[in-house]
Amino acid sequence: MERKNAWKTYSEEDISKLNAISAEYVKFLDNGKTERECVTETVAAAQKAGYVDLEQAIAQQRALNPGDCVYSDFMGKALMLFKIGKQPIFKGLNIVGAHIDSPRIDLKQNPLYEDTDFAYLDTHYYGGIKKYQWVAMPLAMHGVVAKKDGTLVNIVIGEDPSDPVIGISDLLPHLSRDQMSKKGSVVIEGEELNIIIGSKPLNDEEKEPVKAAVLALLKEKYDIEEEDFLSAELEVVPAGAARDFGLDRSMIIGYGHDDRVCAYASVNAILSIDETPEYTCCCLLADKEEIGSVGATGMHGKHFENAVAELVNATGEYSDLLVRRALTACRMLSCDVSAGYDPNFAGVFERKNAAYLGRGVCFNKYTGSGGKGGSNDANAEYMGKLRRLMDDANVNFQTAELGKVDQGGGGTIAYICANYGMEVIDSGVAVLSM
Ligand code: MN
Repeated sequence: MERKNAWKTYSEEDISKLNAISAEYVKFLDNGKTERECVTETVAAAQKAGYVDLEQAIAQQRALNPGDCVYSDFMGKALMLFKIGKQPIFKGLNIVGAHIDSPRIDLKQNPLYEDTDFAYLDTHYYGGIKKYQWVAMPLAMHGVVAKKDGTLVNIVIGEDPSDPVIGISDLLPHLSRDQMSKKGSVVIEGEELNIIIGSKPLNDEEKEPVKAAVLALLKEKYDIEEEDFLSAELEVVPAGAARDFGLDRSMIIGYGHDDRVCAYASVNAILSIDETPEYTCCCLLADKEEIGSVGATGMHGKHFENAVAELVNATGEYSDLLVRRALTACRMLSCDVSAGYDPNFAGVFERKNAAYLGRGVCFNKYTGSGGKGGSNDANAEYMGKLRRLMDDANVNFQTAELGKVDQGGGGTIAYICANYGMEVIDSGVAVLSM
């Protein structure tokens, strides 16, 4: 049951459409390196497409009618777009959902220190990173500083070609005998992810003059002080733009494919709906997936459920029962990346049930690990309907598991949405070097 390579099926027109979408996706990657930036980008695109703020509609007690488009920006880190359909909300929504947080290195609340003529930022990594990959490479800092007076300072350092970058040092090979004999997980340890941000002392400062110089720069450029780090969310990510990969330009290399490739496709999908859909459509962009979908902006939070309640209310009679019926009747693609088959590491894959680059969107009936633990395990009936939809629309797709049985595994937001009783399946794009 080998799935065909989609490249072989494309017409010239298909290829030019694909190139146009890919170019837009590269921009999305570059402009959205954090969950906040992804929300900002998407809200701007949604507003341009005529979407209005759900909060505003609620404040004005506006009724929502079929064809209306609203968005709900939750804390600037999670986002939902809705296009109201002809059927009542309790008949369920058609949902595509992806996550917009990616593994990275966050600054600690008290990060700044000086050691032996270097100024450093101390960090705590976020999500599942291979720590040794983050040293000796250019890094950029993105995020916000919330000042006591309520102002929010946006910070992006290291992306403009004229910007400086920052980074973490690694040991030279000449002195790495002990380091190179360590297990991969401890070659670089969490507390060693200290970011160098300066080495030039402030002339007339006796105590910690390099740190003082950096603070003077931050004061000058952003009007922030050391104590302002206490209320900041500053995320350190690989610096630089996404770009074409391969001599044939058939791939894209960049930070944050997981899961912005699915987020971009999901946003693109809902914004491309011209006519009033039969059922209300929803694009759901979740935060905190990489650390278990926890917190107010993660999928375990109540913002999605509350937004659906608001839709029930704004489109007709409200009742708790109608909200429950709406949530249960949903159909969802939980969109997240799959591990692309890598011939260089063939041993961790089972070839018949692996995802391949270029073979179309990948459906995972289940993810999880070790005996399907923690997976959603979508219904066969739902997968059957999706097969028919895909084949009727002539869309390439494949199916896969996340590697060989007992090799590892992973989870997504699918099982959380499935708790409402809705039909949901994992689907997404195959990615190499995830
Ligand atoms: Mn993911």
